[in-house]
Formats: sequence, structure tokens, C-alpha cells
Amino acid sequence: MTIRIYSTEGRTKTLFTPRLPGRVSMYVCGPTVYDSCHVGHARPAVVFDTIRRYLEYFGLTVTFISNITDIDDKIISRARELGVSWRGLARRCQDEYERDMSALGVLSPSIRPRASEHIPEMIRLIAGLMGKGCAYHNSKGVWFDIASFPDYGRMSGRNQDDENTEHRVEQDDAKKNQQDFALWKAAKPGEPAWESPWGPGRPGWHIECSAMSGKYCDFQLDIHGGGADLAFPHHENELAQSEAYTGLRFARHWLHNGFITVDKADGGDEKMGKSKGNAFWLREAFKIAGPAALRLWILGTHYRMPLLYKPELLSAAENSLERVYNCLEELTRNLAAAPEALPVAGGISDAASRAEVRFREAMDDDFNTPQALAALHEAIAAVNAGLRDSAPTGQLKIVRNIICDMLGVLGLPLERPAKDAGGGADGVIELLIRIRNEARKAKDFPLSDRIRDGLKELGVELNDRGGKSTWTRK
Ligand SMILES: [Zn+2]
Repeated sequence: MTIRIYSTEGRTKTLFTPRLPGRVSMYVCGPTVYDSCHVGHARPAVVFDTIRRYLEYFGLTVTFISNITDIDDKIISRARELGVSWRGLARRCQDEYERDMSALGVLSPSIRPRASEHIPEMIRLIAGLMGKGCAYHNSKGVWFDIASFPDYGRMSGRNQDDENTEHRVEQDDAKKNQQDFALWKAAKPGEPAWESPWGPGRPGWHIECSAMSGKYCDFQLDIHGGGADLAFPHHENELAQSEAYTGLRFARHWLHNGFITVDKADGGDEKMGKSKGNAFWLREAFKIAGPAALRLWILGTHYRMPLLYKPELLSAAENSLERVYNCLEELTRNLAAAPEALPVAGGISDAASRAEVRFREAMDDDFNTPQALAALHEAIAAVNAGLRDSAPTGQLKIVRNIICDMLGVLGLPLERPAKDAGGGADGVIELLIRIRNEARKAKDFPLSDRIRDGLKELGVELNDRGGKSTWTRK
């Protein structure tokens, strides 16, 4: 494996070598659930899902954790506005988020921990930090003492003194140092609260990701991801807490996806954001182009670059996807007409193999999906030429496998998505495949066979190749 990854820490690409051979621990900060998803939610989900799929394509076992922040100021105030419980609001928004991400072909994380279900872990971590002299308690809560962590700012290259930081820390006389941040917030009347050694209260936002990555990945991540706006202060604070607690390096690679921008009426572009009032709801975008086209639009720009949102660009992605499925369907018809042929190399299968090499080279180079998509289109062009020139069926078989592998890595459906399905059914199939994979790992073959046979009855054919299961509708 020769994947080179750019890390925000160090600002350079380095060879990816997981801490434990054959295993990758990946943590991606998930959403704060208080409203419907906007387009900005889709980008990190699709980007990190694609990275995960590429690592799994190499046979690595990826533990992919993405949390749900279900306790937060925004949730509490929105629940009050709506006159519902914070927990009910958070659950409803989480369900909606999961449905939307599934429509985009985003696989479920290995673990999706909720903050509110990890309060004891957070309390233990805070107590540990208190014990090490890295945190202090006063009437407003418990604070992380920045002065105790001289490395603060190491990853993002920023600290709270930055003149130009968008995230000015709230000034508060209760803090020793204005840079200190809250680990535990003392309860306020009418707000949800949990018991703790420092009185009733609730956790600060940053501590939840440290506690959950600590619980599931031993505070040692191969990849920590999230949107660029999380690099500072959220990730810098996670790093400080975690490393102060363990003395170990928290994350080997810090990956941050770029912003989504929109055209401004007076020219130029600006960052999309709910607070700016220029955010587009994801479900509205789904009406312009299907979820698969939206995924293709996201992958058409390198994940670190700004991504321009424009309805015309979604339509262009939809057209590009049309070309892929037109070709695949033509290919399937040809193969169905001559099912007995054995795969043979040469001709167009060689052209497609060269495209596959370029696909891997692109993905190896910091997950360059625009280049990878160019390689996919090269393979498609090879097939179209082969079909025109009546290439041997055996070659077509090889080419179809190559194209399906590429689509699998990119998380694009292997068949033309139904216009109105929104991917819900696909999500259920993916879920069943994951359960079946777990059953196979646990050597529960009767269960694994039942799932395969049951899917077959529903017209879904599984194909186990190279340790991975792909599926097609018959
Ligand atoms: Zn986080």
C-alpha cells in the first residue's frame, strides 16, 4: 500500500502506515442534530466514506467511528422553540440524517456513539485531567488549563490569541486564562444535567470526541477527520485533552475537507453556512439531481479544495452519471447474450486495466477523486469503443469488473439508481450485507447463507470477490 495522505498537522503528505498492521482506526466528527441536513452535511460524510471504502478495498479492517452530538446549546434552544424534549428532537434529526446519508451511499459507521450515552466516560476523562493538574473547577464548571499544555496549537498552527480567528472564545471571568475551554458546564435551570463530582451539569462539546475515540480506539487514531472549520478550536482542543491525559500521540493524520461555497449576487463566492442564510437543504438538492449525482458532484472536486454549489453543476453530474449507466447497461446486455465466455485479457481489457492503475495512483495521492473519476471515464470510453468494435465477450467481463470496483470505491451504485428511490432500499441492502459480513466473520454461516438467499429471492445477487461483497439487482 502506497497511500500518501496530507495532514493538517505538518501540512505535508506522508506515507500512510496504520499503527496496527492491517487495521485502521478512523474518527470523523458527526453532526449536531437539531435540524434537517443541508448540503454542507453531505460533504464530510461522502469524503470520509470514500476514504474508508478505498482503505477497505485494500482489505484493511477499518474501525470507522462517527459520533452524534445530541447534547448541545443549539439542541436545547431549538427544542424549547418547538416545545419538544431535547432528546426527542435529537433522535428525530438523527434518524433523518441517517436516511439522507444512506441515500448518498454513505455506509453506516462501525460505531455511531451518542454523546449523551457516554457521560461516565467523559467524567472519567475530566477527573483524570484534574488529577494531572491540567484542569480546574470553579462555580461555572470545569475548565481545561491551556497553560498546562505547551503544545497547544501544534496541529492547526493557531491558538486562541490569533487576531483573525473566527472562533473567539467567550470571555469569562471564571477562567484563569481566557484561552481555557469548558470540559464540564455547571447546570443551568431548565437544562438537562447529569450528576458529577463537580455537581450537576453537562459536558462541553470538545470532551465528547476525546472520550468516545478514547473508549473505542484507545485514544490513538490513524485518521481523524472533519470539516476545515473543526480544525480550530474543536480538534486542537480534542488533541490537547487527549494527549494531556494519555501522553500519547492522539492522531497520526488530521484530514480536513474544504468548505462549500455559493456564488454571491454581486460576484465572487462565499462560504455556505446556516448562519449566513445561504445554505441549501439537502432534500432540495436531491430534487435537482439524485443522491448519486450529488455524490459524484462532491467527488468531482478534491476534498481539500473549496466546492462550489450550483444547481447547474448538479445537473452536469447527473449527465456524467448517465454516461456511466448507459455504458454499463449496454455492457450487461452484451454479456447476457454470451454468458459462457471466459474472461480473457487483451484489447479493451488492457485499456481498462491501465485506467485502473491510474485510478489507484490518483486515490493513493491523497485521495484525488477528480483524477480517479477521470480514470473511470477512461474505462467507460474503452468499453464504448470495444462495444462498437465487437470486442470479445471475455474482455468485456474483465472490464465490467474493473468498472464495478471503481464504482464501489467511489460509493456510486452499480446500477442506474431509480429516480424516486432516494436510496432508501439500497441502504437496507447495504445494511444486510454488513450484517452478513459480521456473521461470516463470526463463522455464523447459516445466518450468512440465509441473508444471501433471502436477498436473492428479492432479486439482489451478491458477489463475493477479494473479501468484498458487491451486489446487483437481477
Ligand atoms: Zn469532534
